[in-house]
Amino acid sequence: MTMTREGSLEAPIRHPIDWRSPEFYDEDSLNAELERVFDICHGCRRCVSLCQAFPTLFDLVDESETLEVDGVAKTDYVKVVDHCYLCDLCYMTKCPYVPPHEWNVDFPHLMLRAKAVKFSKGQVKARDKLLTSTDLVGSLAGIPVVNGLVNATLSNAVGRGLVESVMRVDKTARLPRYHTDTLRKRHRHLVNRKAQGEGAGPTTGKVAVFTTCYGNYNEPDVNEDLISVLEHNGIPVTLAAEERCCGMPKLELGDLEAVDKAKRANIPVLKALVDEGWDVLAIVPSCVLMFKQELPLMYPDDHDVQEVADHVYDPFEYLLLRHKHGKMNTAFQKSLGKVIYQASCHQRVQNIGQKTRDALSLVPGTTVETIERCSGHDGTYAVKQEFHAASMKIVRPVANRIQKAEADHFGSDCPMAGAHIAHALGEDGRQQHPISLLRLAYGL
Ligand code: SF4
Ligand code: SF4
Repeated sequence: MTMTREGSLEAPIRHPIDWRSPEFYDEDSLNAELERVFDICHGCRRCVSLCQAFPTLFDLVDESETLEVDGVAKTDYVKVVDHCYLCDLCYMTKCPYVPPHEWNVDFPHLMLRAKAVKFSKGQVKARDKLLTSTDLVGSLAGIPVVNGLVNATLSNAVGRGLVESVMRVDKTARLPRYHTDTLRKRHRHLVNRKAQGEGAGPTTGKVAVFTTCYGNYNEPDVNEDLISVLEHNGIPVTLAAEERCCGMPKLELGDLEAVDKAKRANIPVLKALVDEGWDVLAIVPSCVLMFKQELPLMYPDDHDVQEVADHVYDPFEYLLLRHKHGKMNTAFQKSLGKVIYQASCHQRVQNIGQKTRDALSLVPGTTVETIERCSGHDGTYAVKQEFHAASMKIVRPVANRIQKAEADHFGSDCPMAGAHIAHALGEDGRQQHPISLLRLAYGL
């Protein structure tokens, strides 16, 4: 008799994403794999509270004639897939059956495959293609006259009603403002490649900031805070001469050709920076994860992708790596009091530990409480009319914790999640990114 172990004593591994093989897009093969994994999940149900994908699956099973996965119509599988926004939490925090376990369950990457098949069949809304074209939308909305129109439309009830009826973008969801003076325009002077850094551990001590679409067009101030903190730590900063979206929104849509296009634009530029000794930091954890994990899994044989991945860091991970070698400035001028922040999913799955908490805790007179729950934002999930209510249900426990904490500051490692949480609290704009708090503590 063969015994199947529950869980694995070995560290989880992630298999490469075989997105170039014809089998990847074969619908019968996909449905067979979905049925296999859904059946394991039905018998396990650990992930029921993580997001809306699992309750949707379990409801389908419980309402089927057989009360098993074989009773669920294959055409209904997509209802589960649509609720997954690839946060990766089920894989990283709950699932005992991830590889090397013989059951080989990688729920998020199976959802990614299903999204890619759906996209290849053209079953994707024009709205979703537009919402995920973050650099195109940002650059159009950043044109001065267009910018006024976009921001005015998005900030009045009539405009939002119109956007809801035409685009099915929920009129109560928080939408970001667009800036004409983007981060990359404000800091043109930083495209300077001659600076010298002081290495510490694996870090080179000079940083190229990947500004990210959101950090460039929507919240450039957070990137300014990052630049200010780095320079205060004696770390020269530059920007890449060119930058495209990292590709994460397109990955979440299943548009893998668009991910490939973004990769072909970004990787040569970032590789050239890495060759000159620059490390790469980004303020949005999803963009860091894209370069650290998803692209290396999509291109396992591409050395440039791997080399860039080895030099991409979360900002707090970077500061603390240097702190180990006495190279972090700890001459803080102000205490922060009580801080509560949400550790975003895409930062948690980087497996770097609680670096934000550890860095903020270095500030005297500061206590830090971490919330390890999803905000339900995902960049686009929270704004879509059909998913907005589910997103607000997911964020509610996070908002409740913050309300109870009565802290001096709250925020999230993900600027979008922070804004979504503040919106759920009815306190739009009160969120502060942890890097902004560090700047505040330095008195800069
Ligand atoms: S990756 Fe995230 S959203 Fe997708 S099924 Fe897992 S927990 Fe839910
Ligand atoms: S993803 Fe893993 S832990 Fe989550 S319900 Fe499925 S089998 Fe269970």
